[in-house]
Amino acid sequence: MQADIVLRNGPIWCGRQEGVVEALAIWQGRVLAAGADREVSTLVGPSTRIIDLDGRLATPGLNDSHLHLISLGLMMDWVDAKPTTVSTLDGLLSSIRERASRSRPGEWILARGYDQTKLDVQRHPHRSELDRAAPDNPVMLVRTCGHVSICNSRALQLAGIDESSASPPGGLIEQQNGRLTGLLAENARAPVWAVIPSPDEEQLVAAIERGGRHLLSYGITSCMDAAVGQRGGFGEISAYHRAKREGRLPVRTWLTLLGDPDRSIVPQCYEAGLITGTGDDMLMIGAVKLFLDGSAGGRTAWMSRPYLGEDRTTGVQMMPDETVNELVMDAHVKGYQLACHAIGDAAIEQLIAAYERALEAHPDPDRRHRIEHSGFSTPEQHARMVAAGIYPCPQQVFIYDFGDAYISVLGEERALGSYPFKTWMDLGLKPATGSDAPVCEPNPFPNFYAMLTRKTWKGTLMDVSERVSIEEALQAYTEFGAFSQKLEHVKGRLVPGQLADVAVFSRNLLTASADDILDNTRCDLTIRGGAIVHDRHGVA
Ligand SMILES: [Zn+2]
Repeated sequence: MQADIVLRNGPIWCGRQEGVVEALAIWQGRVLAAGADREVSTLVGPSTRIIDLDGRLATPGLNDSHLHLISLGLMMDWVDAKPTTVSTLDGLLSSIRERASRSRPGEWILARGYDQTKLDVQRHPHRSELDRAAPDNPVMLVRTCGHVSICNSRALQLAGIDESSASPPGGLIEQQNGRLTGLLAENARAPVWAVIPSPDEEQLVAAIERGGRHLLSYGITSCMDAAVGQRGGFGEISAYHRAKREGRLPVRTWLTLLGDPDRSIVPQCYEAGLITGTGDDMLMIGAVKLFLDGSAGGRTAWMSRPYLGEDRTTGVQMMPDETVNELVMDAHVKGYQLACHAIGDAAIEQLIAAYERALEAHPDPDRRHRIEHSGFSTPEQHARMVAAGIYPCPQQVFIYDFGDAYISVLGEERALGSYPFKTWMDLGLKPATGSDAPVCEPNPFPNFYAMLTRKTWKGTLMDVSERVSIEEALQAYTEFGAFSQKLEHVKGRLVPGQLADVAVFSRNLLTASADDILDNTRCDLTIRGGAIVHDRHGVA
């Protein structure tokens, strides 16, 4: 037997238990052997392709266990207003003007990523400025956090928002001197979203392809789309299948179905026989998702105690207990794994209770219901999660991106220990990690950095006792990602028989400093199922 590909001459990290080997052989899309160079070299034949790692580190392909692939792909086509791309208001406005010049009159112009604290003018852009940049097009400019948007006059008009519109509960329509500024926050943005045309199937497929290729460039070979149906309803299921058929699905994708009342695609999926585990290595039906609360930084995650501030808010409870219990039970009985959004301790409490009820009535010890984010879970809740087999699926990059925001809305005592990664690891709760892209960048390096240092981008330290080692961080990004999808016997480690998904990094993560991982590391090569799907230097 001869291997299709052999990687050698660099450390190959095969898994937390497996450790590092010298060489890896791939055959027919799977790992054939991993071990000492002299053993693996017996599998080299005349047609074997040798990849010289030249001292670089190879690991199992990364698994981003919670992101929104279609939204990521759609937004990659938006005007890029990130501070790293445009640092001045003038620059931002000229990007919008440039896009308007290439658009039909009336076509929506969508932009994303500005942060007023990093703009030269140190304030939000104003409606009138967007009007001047794009007089013939509706414009929506979304802040980096995703919770605040600036609209121009045309966009507000189409959404039916004017000076007489009152801010809705849980939202803000900002006015200054009796005039709209264009700034809309949280729930006030819904009328704008409602008038932005939904993407058609070709646009959805293009988004899947664009977003997926971006993930491959980071060494991410698997992901979970965390709310299929959010933008295109059941049509997203068709779009994913078409993308796969046409060779335009770059990453292995586990589809979590939106199950919220009013927008649920679960009835249609169930009718079509699409239940957790249906599909194959590239595209598989995953869990059912309900949203139980909002975000901590936006003060909408549902907490048992009030946030800081005069209003004494405890956040947003999306659904009464009975509704959550009913929806969880229904999906559980139908055979679905669940992966519900719960960040505040009160939302987590509501969710654990619903999972416990369902598991009690219809026991299935290995169903692995998930708590997405799980940022503010308590020790008492952890004990119940361990007992019932319920798993947290956090995004440690939130510590890096939002840690300071958590402190400002909750105070240090409650914020510093959020997303207690080491605690979960030690309890055997096998936390995966992910980016929630496009909420955060899918770039894995800030995610690694946060796991290793518990530092925010500003340098604030968030409870160092929750730091983990690089081996633990890699395990979360690979094996535990697979575990969260019940696929740990299929992928996530480089052992014979598992899928040959490999990432090669420019720097040895096992020995590099956390700062070098954050700032000076790239993914050089990505292999998915034995095929080279990203090659930064084009030399493999
Ligand atoms: Zn999400």
